[in-house]
Amino acid sequence: MKRKSNRGKVWNPRGTSGQVRCHCGCPAVLRSAEGICRTYRPGAKVYVCSGYPACDSFVMAHPGTLEPMGTLAPPGLRRLRYEAHQQFDQLHKSGLMTRREAYQWLSYTTQAPMSHAHIGHLGEYYCRVVIRESRKLLAQRTGAA
Ligand SMILES: [Zn+2]
Repeated sequence: MKRKSNRGKVWNPRGTSGQVRCHCGCPAVLRSAEGICRTYRPGAKVYVCSGYPACDSFVMAHPGTLEPMGTLAPPGLRRLRYEAHQQFDQLHKSGLMTRREAYQWLSYTTQAPMSHAHIGHLGEYYCRVVIRESRKLLAQRTGAA
């Protein structure tokens, strides 16, 4: 199997083969989120690394399409994505922006096309950027009010 370079490209969790893969190189398997995801809801599915639990990495599957909601993430990245999502949601929940504007902002801030402007696609670096930049915007807003 050839290893392709992902440098400078948006990481496609399905790769060229159509198979969802883990960052460790193992194929991912689609299974129930029960016992894996702490925020489990009945019927929820996840893509889990076939090396789980040695490689503790997974990503939620979209309930309708079963497409992965991003790339498989290890625990540290899952925490960062969770935090980034909390901060990001405040941008539109607070009324600072519309939801659409917030996603445009995310696309711009993470230098990703709109189709990939989702927290689930972010790596650690851009999670930190989103957390920092959303906090800044929200602080400006409260400061001005
Ligand atoms: Zn893995």
